[in-house]
Amino acid sequence: MAQIKNIGLFTSGGDAPGMNSAIRAVVRAALYYDINVTGIRRGYEGMINGDLFQMDRKSVSNIIQRGGTILKTARSESFRTKQGRQLAYDQLKKFNVDALIAIGGDGTFRGAKAFGDQFDIPVLGLPGTIDNDLMGTDFTIGYDTAINTVINAVDKIRDTAESHDRLFIVEVMGRDSGKIALRTGIASGAENIIIPESKTGLTNLFDRLEHGRKDKTSRIVIVAEGENEEGGAFEIGRRVKEKFPHYDTRVSILGHIQRGGKPTCMDRVLASRVGVAAVEALMAGYKGQMVGVINNKIAYTPFEHAIKHSTDIDPNLLKIVEMLSL
Ligand code: ATP
Repeated sequence: MAQIKNIGLFTSGGDAPGMNSAIRAVVRAALYYDINVTGIRRGYEGMINGDLFQMDRKSVSNIIQRGGTILKTARSESFRTKQGRQLAYDQLKKFNVDALIAIGGDGTFRGAKAFGDQFDIPVLGLPGTIDNDLMGTDFTIGYDTAINTVINAVDKIRDTAESHDRLFIVEVMGRDSGKIALRTGIASGAENIIIPESKTGLTNLFDRLEHGRKDKTSRIVIVAEGENEEGGAFEIGRRVKEKFPHYDTRVSILGHIQRGGKPTCMDRVLASRVGVAAVEALMAGYKGQMVGVINNKIAYTPFEHAIKHSTDIDPNLLKIVEMLSL
């Protein structure tokens, strides 16, 4: 096993709060072990373009609390091709990078797997996505911050919903997963939740509006962005208006505010733990795995398993929403 001397570090795919905390952890842990870190700007695109630079302890000072990613992030079509990955590998060789740590979501790990299969270079991943949809970690970096941003926003929407007796349909992020919707629905006291993992969301909503308490004039319905079966938040809003015209129904899309802001303590600690663990794992000869935390313990999961979307929604949580919104 060759000794690691120079780790290439990058963020890729959608940004998530806490990515900076993870970058800091990797850089500081590597320096602690006398390993060099080469920052790669704009993910795989920057790797192909040779946008690489040497990092030191100062390049990560005062970033643990900042949202976004100082390394910037991008999507890259050419990295999906063998030729594109060859160009990326040539750049890494030019800068003497002999290992990689990728911070991102499932797409980033698909790319990391393809790269590790094509070239003899160890690659590890850190789960950086607000969606919490990766196998091999209880939580992803950014999820806790995002759900706290959502409940702050929904609390504000509830003020106006209550004052005007309105029914609000609030769309939250989660392209393939209802995890953000489910947690924030419970935490904000939503009356209904519509997520891709459950096929009964809209039926339940209609049932509630038809047979539920008539004195309830304001309501919050949380819809996951990836909910396509019913046509998304605007279509659901249109159908509610059509069927229940006496409700003053509004649709609110929370959008990109969910990606920004200072990472919570949970996200900073998670990022710091997995960042240190990834450096130590590279030193121990690990490759092709995502470093996460399961039951409060560091866990290593091969990329091909990590990217299998975890669709396990706890039905008890859905039941709680129903029980508590009488
Ligand atoms: P998020 O889900 O939070 O947006 P992500 O990491 O899933 O983050 P993607 O845009 O899906 O984001 O993927 C990031 C990049 O990974 C892509 O732009 C592409 O360069 C690379 N990538 C994705 N899939 C593959 C693949 N099958 N082969 C090679 N590279 C890939």
